[in-house]
Amino acid sequence: MPDRVWVKSLSWRALPADSTKLCRWGKGECDNRAEYELQRSHGRTERWWAYCRKHVEAYGNRVIGLEVQIDVPYDSPAAKRGWAQ
Ligand SMILES: [Zn+2]
Repeated sequence: MPDRVWVKSLSWRALPADSTKLCRWGKGECDNRAEYELQRSHGRTERWWAYCRKHVEAYGNRVIGLEVQIDVPYDSPAAKRGWAQ
């Protein structure tokens, strides 16, 4: 039995294929086109930070198609429901 399992992360979403956003990794270290973005809350303001696939995975996430997944403990509520924030 695995210690951890992959579930969909609701904090990430895929960008449209025609998006021209660039990856924000390292303030300009990466100039790849961004494919996914991460929701960052600033008080009530919703912001989305865009990253290329490589740097989504650099956070320890896994990318399957349009879905970004994170690993959670096998016996956690997130594992049972199949998604996490
Ligand atoms: Zn990048």
